[in-house]
Amino acid sequence: MPRYEYRCRTCGDTFELSRPMAESAAPAACPSGHGDTVKLLSAVAVGGTAAAAAPRPSGGGSGGGCCGGGCCG
Ligand SMILES: [Zn+2]
Repeated sequence: MPRYEYRCRTCGDTFELSRPMAESAAPAACPSGHGDTVKLLSAVAVGGTAAAAAPRPSGGGSGGGCCGGGCCG
């Protein structure tokens, strides 16, 4: 089952979910229970490390990363 990465816009946490592709666009609550999440474009169905430099959706508010422009590393 593909894995999708999501980011919570409430607490800024990122998390992964394994769910069918048909549900990839369905709302996903963060581990803390927040519902305001966005799906990230990350490596899918690749068992192993998560991409450290996942692309950030534009329009975000407070960031906690390094550069925020996808130039990390
Ligand atoms: Zn959250």
